[in-house]
Amino acid sequence: MKLCRYDDDRLGVVRGELVHDVTQAQTEIRNTAPYAMQGDAVIAALPQWRERLERLADKTPGTPLAQVRLLAPVARPTKLSCAPTNYQAHISEMAAAAAQPGSQVVTTQSSKILEAGMFLKANSALVGPTEGIAIRFPDRRNDHEAELVMVIGKAGSDIPRERALDHVAAYCLGLDMTVRGREDRSFRKSIDSYAVAGPWLVTADEIADPDALPLSLQVNGETRQNSNTNMLIYDCPRLIEFASSFYTLYPGDLIYTGTPEGVGPVKPGDTIVCRSSPVLGELKITVRAHGVSGAQTSTRMRADA
Ligand code: MN
Repeated sequence: MKLCRYDDDRLGVVRGELVHDVTQAQTEIRNTAPYAMQGDAVIAALPQWRERLERLADKTPGTPLAQVRLLAPVARPTKLSCAPTNYQAHISEMAAAAAQPGSQVVTTQSSKILEAGMFLKANSALVGPTEGIAIRFPDRRNDHEAELVMVIGKAGSDIPRERALDHVAAYCLGLDMTVRGREDRSFRKSIDSYAVAGPWLVTADEIADPDALPLSLQVNGETRQNSNTNMLIYDCPRLIEFASSFYTLYPGDLIYTGTPEGVGPVKPGDTIVCRSSPVLGELKITVRAHGVSGAQTSTRMRADA
């Protein structure tokens, strides 16, 4: 099943090119969830609600995807847990970039994930495709990082890798946007809109092997990143084992699995397309300057067209 959040915080089941509104289920789930719960109530409820969501979707006419505004597919993650340096070819390109005179790429931490650990991006940075990316510090390098994202479905701590994927509710595409520089990762990578997820969730039953998914990214039609999650240094189960050895993972938590080689700068006006075909689909998002609203950007784009 494919699930999206859209428009004014609605929940939809995506079938083909149509979105079927199942917001009444979302409302009921949220209304009965304890306020003090950790995590996202809707994601936590998916196993029990799956069939009802399908039946509700059967009964509602679909709206074309092109007519909805896609939001981040999870409303309330407790954290965005991210793998640094998890593809060897990306580690190599960052080391080469940092060695250039005057480079804005700074490699202050170990390139070994076991030593560097995971890092966190602020939840408030999370956006969906139609919200756009708002670039701050345009004089610095603002890089795209295409990543596979795991969505935790079942809470767990000290999860062994053998059972790790049982804790995954769904997968989606993500962008770990990054301004390069000397600040801590959690600061540089937490700028509003610098955590993109979408275009929708694909439930785990539809992904035979998350460690064998193609992953590519284009900027304005030019391919910049093109790899496969089979190149991950810490694969998906190991990342869950590693992260949960430090903290409890809760329903709705997002795990950004790291980016392959080919990262590079974007600027306002660019369009980024991230793909993992055919299963996860295509995440398309535009880049604008901070302080310029998405609506103004799209008006200008129409005027330019
Ligand atoms: Mn990253």
